[in-house]
Formats: sequence, structure tokens, C-alpha cells
Amino acid sequence: MILKNRTKPIVLEKLDAAIGRLPTNFPALSDMQSEAATRYKGYIGEQKVDYHLEQFAREYTMFQGICLQVDGKTVQFDTVLITKQAIYLIEIKNFSDKITFDTILHQFTRSDGQKETGFRDPLIQAENQKNKLQQWLRAHHLINIPIYYFIAISDPSTIIDVIGDQEAVSKVVAHGEHIPRKIIQKEEVLRKKAPGSFNHSKIGQAILGACKAHDFDILSRYGVKKRHLLTGVHCPACGKLGMERLYGTWQCKACSKRAKLAHLRAFSDYFLLISPWINNKECMRYLRIQSRNVATRLMKTSNMKYQKEYKRWIKADRRRAL
Ligand SMILES: [Zn+2]
Repeated sequence: MILKNRTKPIVLEKLDAAIGRLPTNFPALSDMQSEAATRYKGYIGEQKVDYHLEQFAREYTMFQGICLQVDGKTVQFDTVLITKQAIYLIEIKNFSDKITFDTILHQFTRSDGQKETGFRDPLIQAENQKNKLQQWLRAHHLINIPIYYFIAISDPSTIIDVIGDQEAVSKVVAHGEHIPRKIIQKEEVLRKKAPGSFNHSKIGQAILGACKAHDFDILSRYGVKKRHLLTGVHCPACGKLGMERLYGTWQCKACSKRAKLAHLRAFSDYFLLISPWINNKECMRYLRIQSRNVATRLMKTSNMKYQKEYKRWIKADRRRAL
């Protein structure tokens, strides 16, 4: 069973929302756009690998993208699979062209044929994550559960090269489609040694109760303040901000398209970027409308809940902490 499905990361949602509400001359805009593009590619890569791994969810317990607090620090895991024999961590890496694992110098590089760039060694990173998870399990009285990790390269066209111990690297690193076979082989070896009897669903519930959303203030990294964010409703057709409220609908001043529910995206941006609640006056300013009644009606019909004691509206289905 998949206890937590992969969803678009909140950090990416925030970036996307902010990019759509910043003036085109905002200094960090192009850096934000390139970070969003990289994160988006990573997210797509993770989904590709999910496709190959989901077969295990029929029998075992799985998480797609979780965070745990270990020693006061947030540790992120791409995929966690819990079987009767062990826990498997599958770290997903999205690199194009050619990557090189150097086990002698402990270097990891990516080359596009012209330029070589160094990155944190995924093997060291995965070993680290394994230790952190072990620490977390111990702290929760879940002991003696072996943890193994694999590194899944999401793009099947990426060339994987090794300098040094090829066997050691090939034991844990593979393109996403080959990871299931590696897990099955490992399971067989473990089962032959001693058939395991871990209650994977119970371990999964313990993890589920503790996991947090991977969220941080990405906007402050780029110097984005709330006052920089533009108000208004986006046109779903041409993307321009500033639709006009006209006869119960929204009309774009640029392309004249009409859209009845265009305010939903604006509210979603508001809750992501500005505040978890909104009041009537703020709603009028933010949607650029003049009528209190229209503001109330829009909030009432946009899946929001009124908090009478504070005279403000919040999202009715507050996103779970996952
Ligand atoms: Zn338009």
C-alpha cells in the first residue's frame, strides 16, 4: 500500500505561484525560473521511477517523498519501501548526458560533453540517509530492521560511468527500470538467510504519523517580500494578470476571454504565498474588486470556511501535513 503518494512539492508550487506574481523586472526572477525548471524536471524524473516501483505497493508498504525530523533536522527521502525483510531507500537522481562515480576520489560529476560539473556524491548522501533513518527507527523503538539503499537514475538515456570499484557502484546504482530487479534479488537473498517477519504496515504507520511536508521559505532566499507580489486575477487563456469582474464572471482586458472560476488560482496563490487566512477587505484589494458582497460570495463558493471569531476565511480542506 502506498501510504503517501507523490504530489507536486510545495516548494515548487510556491515558486510557480510567486513567478506568476512578480514584475518582469524583479532581479531574482530568472534565477527563480531556472530553479523551478530544475525542480520540475526532478519531479517528473521521480514520477518516472515511481512507475517502476509501484508494483511493490500491492504487497508491501511504500512512501513516495517524505520528510522525518532526526536530531532536530529535516531529512528527506525520495522513496521508502518497507517489506517483511527490510527497509529500502530509493534515492532518485535526475541527471542528463553522462554521470561519473569516482570511488577512489569520492567524486561525482556530470558531463555534457563540453563541461564537467561536480555534485555531492549520491553514494555518501544515501549512506547518510540510511544512518539517519536508523537513528529515527531506534528513537521510536523499532530496532534491528536492516536498511538498504539504491540510487535510481531517472532518465534512461543517462550514461553511467564508474572510475574505481565498478562492482560496488553497480550494486546500488541503476536506471529506474532496473531497480525492481535489484530489490527482488536482495529480498531473495535475505529470505533464504532467514524469512523476515516485520510488520511493514505497522512500521509504515509509525513513519506516517511522524512525517512532515518538505517546506521552507523559498521566497526569502530570493529576497521576495509580500509587497513585491502583484495583486489580481490571472487570465487562464493568456496568463495576464488583472482580469475584470464583469456580470458574474471574469474578463481579460488583454485578450477578452471570459472565465468564471479564474479567482480560484488567485486564492490558491494567496494561501501559498501570503497568509493562511484572508478577510473581506484584503480579498477586495487582492482580487481588485470593489464590492464587499462579491468578495464574500467568491470566498463562500471557493471551498473556504468562515472563522466568525476572527472575521476571516481559511481554506476548508486545509492541506494535510503531508
Ligand atoms: Zn487573456
